[in-house]
Amino acid sequence: MRVSLDTKDFAKYPFLKESQQFMLQNHESVDTFLHSSPGKVAVRYAVDRIRRALSHQGPAGAGDDEGQTLPSDNLGIRLEVSSYALSRILVSCAKDRALIDRLTRYEAARAFSFLENEDEPKRNYIARQVGFTLEQSSFPVSRYVEVTAGMREERWRLINREIHEGRVMLEPLETEELLKEQIRVTLHSQLPLEVPASLCSDLAPYVSRVQETFQQRMIEDYGEVDESCFPPCMQALASALSEGMNITHSGRFALTAFLHNIGMDSTQIIELYCRAPDFDVSKTQYQVEHISGRGGAGTEYTAPSCAAMRTLGLCAKSEGACEKVNHPLNYYRYRKKGRGTAPQKKELPS
Ligand code: SF4
Repeated sequence: MRVSLDTKDFAKYPFLKESQQFMLQNHESVDTFLHSSPGKVAVRYAVDRIRRALSHQGPAGAGDDEGQTLPSDNLGIRLEVSSYALSRILVSCAKDRALIDRLTRYEAARAFSFLENEDEPKRNYIARQVGFTLEQSSFPVSRYVEVTAGMREERWRLINREIHEGRVMLEPLETEELLKEQIRVTLHSQLPLEVPASLCSDLAPYVSRVQETFQQRMIEDYGEVDESCFPPCMQALASALSEGMNITHSGRFALTAFLHNIGMDSTQIIELYCRAPDFDVSKTQYQVEHISGRGGAGTEYTAPSCAAMRTLGLCAKSEGACEKVNHPLNYYRYRKKGRGTAPQKKELPS
């Protein structure tokens, strides 16, 4: 059945090729657009879009944009689609993996919240645009592994699935969840964009706003550094360092990224490493600055997920709370907040 998209669909699903074609109707370069009045508005919308992504709390908040008023006129829709494109440019200029991760999770959840209310032909059509087929109750194992690679809940692990003749069986709602994940993976695979340095330079004030908001969110999330709230894996790595034991390269990476993510500054991190038997200040400084995004390509790293920590042999699961988290940062945030209830599984970058 032929599916016809209306202009509101471009605002709902700005990643579709039709949405991009709609935006390119005026044949303007990005530079020309940015200097136009709509362009100036669109870049502010793009900053707001990223800020919403930073406030977005993962799958539990998937409906954050549900009920939002979508623009109905062409200019409003053009601004909406442009803000999507510009937000991708801004996070690419920021060269921050965690920011890219937050934005793509938000975009996938936003699109999915609209998709849930579409009729079947349109849902199937949009799913196909991201390489996904909704009308199936099982996936070949290889395809299943590919789609679920970033999903950290235990129920998605292959050993917890029912497999028949090389196919992983799925409940209807699980197929929907995989579609959302496929949208996220598709959008994530497209970033960062290769943005000319001159354009990043023009957009620098907006990139700074986004980075400031992100840092603020991290401070709100994690507050003052409190070692007593470290997860067992990070406690074990920090203790090994304190006791003058050598830790592996991947252990150093995980610990450094974790300490940076929770707000410890480079000097404090280097002080911790000075207890290591092979401590070399300039080498340590280089590594810490590289991981925290202050050196080299400016890419900021996020601590590995629990699944990755397990693969690296760095998981030191020793208590119940670990059963409820999928990321050491979630463990830390939970302990910091001192909540009495079990932590929610939140999707964090691997
Ligand atoms: S389960 Fe996660 S948080 Fe707990 S020790 Fe293992 S890696 Fe760390």
